[in-house]
Amino acid sequence: MLWLTLGPSHAMENQVLVIRIKIPNSGAVDWTVHSGPQLLFRDVLDVIGQVLPEATTTAFEYEDEDGDRITVRSDEEMKAMLSYYYSTVMEQQVNGQLIEPLQIFPRACKPPGERNIHGLKVNTRAGPSQHSSPAVSDSLPSNSLKKSSAELKKILANGQMNEQDIRYRDTLGHGNGGTVYKAYHVPSGKILAVKVILLDITLELQKQIMSELEILYKCDSSYIIGFYGAFFVENRISICTEFMDGGSLDVYRKIPEHVLGRIAVAVVKGLTYLWSLKILHRDVKPSNMLVNTRGQVKLCDFGVSTQLVNSIAKTYVGTNAYMAPERISGEQYGIHSDVWSLGISFMEPLQLLQCIVDEDSPVLPVGEFSEPFVHFITQCMRKQPKERPAPEELMGHPFIVQFNDGNATVVSMWVCRALEDRRSQQGPS
Ligand code: ATP
Ligand code: MG
Repeated sequence: MLWLTLGPSHAMENQVLVIRIKIPNSGAVDWTVHSGPQLLFRDVLDVIGQVLPEATTTAFEYEDEDGDRITVRSDEEMKAMLSYYYSTVMEQQVNGQLIEPLQIFPRACKPPGERNIHGLKVNTRAGPSQHSSPAVSDSLPSNSLKKSSAELKKILANGQMNEQDIRYRDTLGHGNGGTVYKAYHVPSGKILAVKVILLDITLELQKQIMSELEILYKCDSSYIIGFYGAFFVENRISICTEFMDGGSLDVYRKIPEHVLGRIAVAVVKGLTYLWSLKILHRDVKPSNMLVNTRGQVKLCDFGVSTQLVNSIAKTYVGTNAYMAPERISGEQYGIHSDVWSLGISFMEPLQLLQCIVDEDSPVLPVGEFSEPFVHFITQCMRKQPKERPAPEELMGHPFIVQFNDGNATVVSMWVCRALEDRRSQQGPS
């Protein structure tokens, strides 16, 4: 049976996912989910609660390629599982095999508590052993209460984004221009990242910025942060975007090359996409490269609004370590300057402290990195802008080609592990 029809990897989020819930000693129930990647751990527990009402399930397991059982107890572990599953689906697809459902094994303990299904559609199908499966489908609502990202994007694009609907939560970080908050969007139930920038400018300029930001609604790439809307309240602008639970790359130390390679592929694709829309990023640096536990890598904070860039520049004048030499010396800025910043972003922070304008371009230590990687960085950081690779040359570079395999699991696992390490270092909160 072929239950999944899959397109290219980034289209998977629109596809149906079948989760086969294995029932101890009596077959299985197949559950059809229409927004697989958005699925939360709690949603799965809720459905397991319907399938196995006599037990309280607090965790479940899945099997990796070696048949080892891996326990899932949190959203992060869920995402790692889904990411692993989607990579196996891709493999099955490439090999022309039938797509297997995602098998999970509930782990029960303690007496049952109250359960509530978040409107996820459940279909019952007899498991392979033909044993009876509990009839759960009729008792469950089939329309989703949660809004999909696409739906949310549509709603927000219609100008329904406003301050009253947003509950600010944690501060994610401060930049030179403003502060980024994790926020809850009440009507959609979505978590957003909201960047708030203080700008003392005229209404006229505010309008100009809003119209320049319009192009963000049209940006549609899995390598560019999703844009939900922006609004002014008094003298500050709030820019609402997709929240990335792995944060930005600047806080990660020592990224192994096989992970960095996949990240570089996504960044090159994101930049190539922006350049194809005639947008220069102008602020390529690790803090503007975001990752999530699904293994996605997305660019943010690109200079789409000249007026916004100018208005921020009035309050903050400066350079940063990632800027190309020609930019520091006030010469013309072009795609080549983004390419320099791309190269330097993937070097170790210590080496960034070198003086970029007067000295020779920094070089990577010999022996520590692969030859294609060193070559890639060195080419991106040629002092003469025109000698740096053009967009199509970047995509064809052996370092990028080597890691351009769509394997999000590598990044996903690495983000999940890094977040866990960070949490355990911080101790219980
Ligand atoms: P600069 O102001 O020079 O661009 P910056 O990029 O560090 O510096 P901000 O853009 O204000 O500053 O971002 C602050 C921090 O907020 C980032 O370093 C990042 O960790 C976090 N952040 C920004 N956007 C998001 C997002 N969409 N999801 C999760 N975290 C984010
Ligand atoms: Mg930023």
